[in-house]
Amino acid sequence: MMKYDKNLVVGCGISGAVIARLLADNGENVLVIDKKTHIAGNIYDYKDENGIVIHKYGSHIFHTNNKKVWQFLKRFTSFNIYMHKVVALIDGIETTIPFNLNTLYDVFPKTLAQRLEEKLLNNFEYNTKVPILKFQTQNDKDLKFLADYIYEKVFLHYTSKQWGKNPDEIDSAVTSRVPVFISRDNRYFQDKYQGIPLHGYTKMVENILNHPNIEVKLNTDFKNFTSENPDLIKNCRIFYTGSIDELYDYKFGELPYRSVHFKFETHNREFYQSNAVVNYPCNYDFTRIHEYKYYLNDKSENTVIAKEYSEEFENGKNERYYPIATLETQKIYDKYIEEKSENIYFLGRLGDYKYYDMDKAVERALNLFEEINNG
Ligand code: UDP
Repeated sequence: MMKYDKNLVVGCGISGAVIARLLADNGENVLVIDKKTHIAGNIYDYKDENGIVIHKYGSHIFHTNNKKVWQFLKRFTSFNIYMHKVVALIDGIETTIPFNLNTLYDVFPKTLAQRLEEKLLNNFEYNTKVPILKFQTQNDKDLKFLADYIYEKVFLHYTSKQWGKNPDEIDSAVTSRVPVFISRDNRYFQDKYQGIPLHGYTKMVENILNHPNIEVKLNTDFKNFTSENPDLIKNCRIFYTGSIDELYDYKFGELPYRSVHFKFETHNREFYQSNAVVNYPCNYDFTRIHEYKYYLNDKSENTVIAKEYSEEFENGKNERYYPIATLETQKIYDKYIEEKSENIYFLGRLGDYKYYDMDKAVERALNLFEEINNG
């Protein structure tokens, strides 16, 4: 087996930081580079002049059922007790997303809500999650009405804003993230472990990287760095968390992504809305509004919100946020993977081109480290 003097981790988001730490704890030297001016990638947050912690790239709520992941991160941060809920404005009524049994009573007259609830409980197990595309395939007249209602009011317009496509034109795993929930549980996630890092995500990543074997270089582009330092990366093992198409100069075509941008506003009042996230499935051009002070219960006479707008990713203009899984994009990805040499590993949302939540990104880094050491 080849001897590697050093490990080069490209990208300093949660995936890059975790793999760097595992290698460092294992006694290896690690250089982490990132072209951004800050660590933590898209989970970057900062405290603003109002004392409110802002998630620069949109709300991040940590949740997992994986005890290993939870315990790993708890070495570097404490979490508060926070159970995320999402409110949606449907026909001017504030209700809960995912659509659940409580939602019925918010949006329909009581007798209709009761009839629908009874039918749902006769047709589905309590506490089950039914993806909307499956929920639509029902014969009962009332349940068909309900399915059409939820499809139209919750999914159709939100999804077309978010993806530029209808729900049945995108990977079904995406809309399955927000199922119809046969339950009275109003939470967005049911995971055993949930919370927000008490001192923010950036601090958590800083603590992960804080190890004598780890060196971090920001403002450092991989291609420039490697051409300027050919000796330094000789015999380097590379962990690449950027987009694989860029690394190989787009020779098999671009991997598409959706991007988002945020319009921040500060308001001189205690709260702007009733909840940390309010979705606007049917109105306006933005998909949702984030109000940041809710996450860590920050006290200020002002409040900061961000309206989230979705758009296509364009290289050089905005950031990559969401991979777009289709058979075609998977084929492109596979072609790139075939190009890879033995000393390079891909991970993270961009490196694996997978819609990972934070816990899945950590899990992937933990598993990759295991594979390398046992393989
Ligand atoms: N979705 C929707 N309406 C909603 C919330 C979600 O149609 O009110 C769909 C939409 O297609 C979205 C997907 O469900 O992209 C996943 O939503 P999630 O909140 O998990 O997205 P994220 O927070 O990762 O952007």
